[in-house]
Amino acid sequence: MPSLPVLVLNSGSSSIKFSLYEAGNGERTRLFEGAVDGIGTDLGKFWIKDANGKKLVDQTPAVPGRSVAFKLVADALHSCDFPAPAAIGHRTVCGGPTVRENQRITPALIDEIESYQDLAPLHTPIAVYIMREALRLFPSIPNFAILDTYFHRTLPEVATHLPIPSEYVAMGVRRYGYHGISYESIVYQLQPDVPGKLIVAHLGNGASISAIRNGLCIDTSMALTPTGGIISGSRTGDIDPGVLIFILKKLAETTPDAAEAAEKLETVVNKKSGLLGVSELSNDMRDLREAIAAGNAKARLAVDKFCWTIARWIGSYVAELNGLDMLVFTGGIGENDIASRAEICSGLGALGIVLDAKRNNVRGAAVISAENSPVTVRVIPPLEDLMIVDHVVRLLGE
Ligand code: ADP
Repeated sequence: MPSLPVLVLNSGSSSIKFSLYEAGNGERTRLFEGAVDGIGTDLGKFWIKDANGKKLVDQTPAVPGRSVAFKLVADALHSCDFPAPAAIGHRTVCGGPTVRENQRITPALIDEIESYQDLAPLHTPIAVYIMREALRLFPSIPNFAILDTYFHRTLPEVATHLPIPSEYVAMGVRRYGYHGISYESIVYQLQPDVPGKLIVAHLGNGASISAIRNGLCIDTSMALTPTGGIISGSRTGDIDPGVLIFILKKLAETTPDAAEAAEKLETVVNKKSGLLGVSELSNDMRDLREAIAAGNAKARLAVDKFCWTIARWIGSYVAELNGLDMLVFTGGIGENDIASRAEICSGLGALGIVLDAKRNNVRGAAVISAENSPVTVRVIPPLEDLMIVDHVVRLLGE
């Protein structure tokens, strides 16, 4: 296949990230990357960097909404000196029960993904908007939906089936799992020696953990939505469902409209909980570490809860895998927060997980386990954009 410029679009609730790769004959070269951050504010950030890290664009425009944000990206793509994209890969957090395969985007596919937007309410609305705009602005280019849920397609039924009445199962309520493109990229980077029994902890603003046997996912902590699983920046993670009923009843006392009360509950569990809720300070690990150093007890409790939850999850996945060969940390916290890695692993010696404090004193890719640790512990940054390009190239060849 000749070399093709492939554009990757990755949108979140307040940002659009993008990158352009030259792909072909097994080579993947990033030409540039950029982002529009701060969507919904007067002081957004719009930047583009070339492959050497040189800033080609560095602006602070007002970005009142997603249409202005995507126009900035589209205008830059049309006017820049780089080759025009020959295909576009859209990171797609969740396609619901019907869209399970990475595939070419059509208007009907966008409608289908949109119909399940409640499953990933922070990501899907902006993603489907961008898909429609990309089809309109680049009508001659194939666009592909690359799904975070795709990696979790190998989950066994015992993991996907949730213990609820079948009428809700029929509506698509099940464990989907998220961060799949990140997990896939870790397995990809471990090839050809992918360990048989692998646990990957993706610890970013959103955090999840997966058990992977022979390269295939057998369990993952997030379920129907990214709210489930381990505690993260501003989300609860798993919680006694009775807590939700209690909060909903309390909200109903002042908010008789059921849909409005449900929205308030959604804000509580997605935006006001997790590290932010416990610390009453921040969802950002850097702020919490600073506060802990200054003696802030709530920040200490929030981070203790985070590390404790992850350690418990690692224990249960070791049981599920019936052993462990390798533990990988990834995501902003996994790659950079030396103390979190140490605290998570400090009580896991009985599982064969022993860190070397000196090796762990690192940011970015490294082996951080002790020489004699039965389990190898590594830090590996995810390569999500590269993974998306890889899928696009494969789909173009089909
Ligand atoms: P997202 O899920 O939004 O992609 P990231 O993977 O970028 O998030 O991770 C963001 C988290 O990583 C934040 O909690 C941030 O504090 C943490 N982080 C980033 N750099 C550091 C660092 N140097 N030390 C500690 N934590 C860090």
